[in-house]
Amino acid sequence: MNKSFSLTDWIRPNIQELTSYTSARDQYGQDQGILLDANELGLGPAIPSTDAGQSVSTRTLHRYPDPYQRELRTAIAKLRGVHADQVFTGNGSDEAIDLIIRLFCEPAKHRILCTPPTYGMYKVSARIHDIAVDQAPLNPDFSLHPKAIIDAIGPDTRVLFLCSPNNPTGTMANESDLRYLCEHAGCLVVIDEAYIDFAQAESMSKSLEEFPNLIVLQTLSKSFGLAGIRLGIALASKDIIGYFDKIKAPYNINSLSAQVALSALQQPEIMHAKVQEILLERAYVTERLELLKKILNAGPISLGAIIPSQANFVLFQIDQALRIQQALAEQKVIVRYRGNELHCENSLRLSIGSREENNSFFEALITVLGYQGPAYKNMMEQLNLQPKNSSLAQQDTAENTNTAQGTNAAQPTNTAQNTATAQPTNAAQVPRKATVRRHTNETKIDISLNLDGTGVHHIKTGLRFFDHMLEQIARHGLIDLDVQCQGDLHIDEHHTIEDVGIALGQALSQAYGDKRGIDRYGFVLPMDESRATVALDLSGRPYLVFNASFDRVYVGDIPTDMIEHFFYSLATHMQATLHIDVLGANDHHKVEACFKGLARALKQAIEHNPRISGQVPSSKGSL
Ligand code: PMP
Repeated sequence: MNKSFSLTDWIRPNIQELTSYTSARDQYGQDQGILLDANELGLGPAIPSTDAGQSVSTRTLHRYPDPYQRELRTAIAKLRGVHADQVFTGNGSDEAIDLIIRLFCEPAKHRILCTPPTYGMYKVSARIHDIAVDQAPLNPDFSLHPKAIIDAIGPDTRVLFLCSPNNPTGTMANESDLRYLCEHAGCLVVIDEAYIDFAQAESMSKSLEEFPNLIVLQTLSKSFGLAGIRLGIALASKDIIGYFDKIKAPYNINSLSAQVALSALQQPEIMHAKVQEILLERAYVTERLELLKKILNAGPISLGAIIPSQANFVLFQIDQALRIQQALAEQKVIVRYRGNELHCENSLRLSIGSREENNSFFEALITVLGYQGPAYKNMMEQLNLQPKNSSLAQQDTAENTNTAQGTNAAQPTNTAQNTATAQPTNAAQVPRKATVRRHTNETKIDISLNLDGTGVHHIKTGLRFFDHMLEQIARHGLIDLDVQCQGDLHIDEHHTIEDVGIALGQALSQAYGDKRGIDRYGFVLPMDESRATVALDLSGRPYLVFNASFDRVYVGDIPTDMIEHFFYSLATHMQATLHIDVLGANDHHKVEACFKGLARALKQAIEHNPRISGQVPSSKGSL
């Protein structure tokens, strides 16, 4: 809709004629003189004096707040790059939604248009005011269908509600689609950006001057973590904001909320840091859901689509979703069932929590899926999670440093530059690095590696021969590898070798991520009088075939029966099929041949191949 848009054609006539409530403060300001105009309690607030001196000032609570929250709006305008007169502050953005319906829609006559599946309050607010709701569904991949939306707009359609990132899908609308709709909808267009700070797109508020029919909604409830103060924001033309102010309740923002909001807005770097943490947690949760999906694939209950999210929640499909949601609630983990929404059959919406909360969710889910005893423990290990309150007090924090590259807590997150970090991708240009920290009562292991290295290594496990073997992986795999392990060698070598295998497998798997653009398979043949055949498939299906026999009980300081066990731990945790056959006369050579063979096979398999850049090397489309 271009500049010919005339707001008076859209505001309900009774509101245009309305004389709104005014107070003497509107005339003389908030801080002027002795305030005897508003029947307040001049003695100060009747609350215990101990509350004084808290970070929120209670000193002026006997005064009504500024009806227009000028200071707050100025701070919001500064943060969001708009003018203060383009900002409305409401009691949550839910208030703004309600006011939009009241401003533009005549009861029992006008209609609004929504794009399900989407946030439910547009419909509820409309129904409260006896406004009909039309629907132009999102496509099954949750993208907008601009043509269907335009077709669904009739002469009585007053407002089109769009939500981006969308609740409950977490998906982002294309900017070009949003611009097209602002241009062609022929009615008011509301873009609800409640989750914009978690996304990699810019706010559409930059286009307010261009589209006089555009209203952008934001809130302090999500990225600022202030849902309790009820502070929502509408950004629109000065004229539209003027009408919001005309019909809102006179003092819709209370002083306590305003103070807290102001202090949050004055230090937005705190919000940005929290958003960064949530983005890392979102990647952590998504990776584990993907892993679980692969593991469960053959079982009675399987996971379906896990929708890549640009918000602080993830929508995923799971068989028997309603039953699973109820069973999770019995485990005291509450998630939202969204299976009744369009295209969301058997879907649950999981808010991203703290690391502890996210782990609790996976623990509860694994329990609900029927894993008990050793199977539960095994599954937890495969997901790289540790039981809460475990007597082992294990703390496993494996973080893919791909996800942390280039983050800057002080920068806004709604720029493409730094939120790309939340979507691990292994395109060749992204450093393929990983860091795994695995500290248990038995071993304390720190591994970091770079798949695109030159073989630089620092390895110390306390077992010299084992160090020498791991060096082979670095050197011949051209992988920079740092392995530091303090194990319980006073007991024996078992935990050290096994746990390094686990942590190294996890680090490799994290570094090559979703395997886009790599060669996937690797194999190598002979060495000296010994011959190791090592065949590797980064298939996502852990399997080890190990054909070797050793005459000696030890080679160096590692027991030969731990060789197979190391490769088993490694293959399981890098989710790979690994076949090793070794023949020869000298056990030292045979073991070394296995490690060198693995290194070469790995080097081939992780090699980035420009001819399949960006593609997953599987006809299935995922590995
Ligand atoms: N819009 C969307 C898309 C939401 O998901 C929510 C809250 N769940 C809101 C608006 C309302 O937020 P507020 O707390 O500001 O009322």
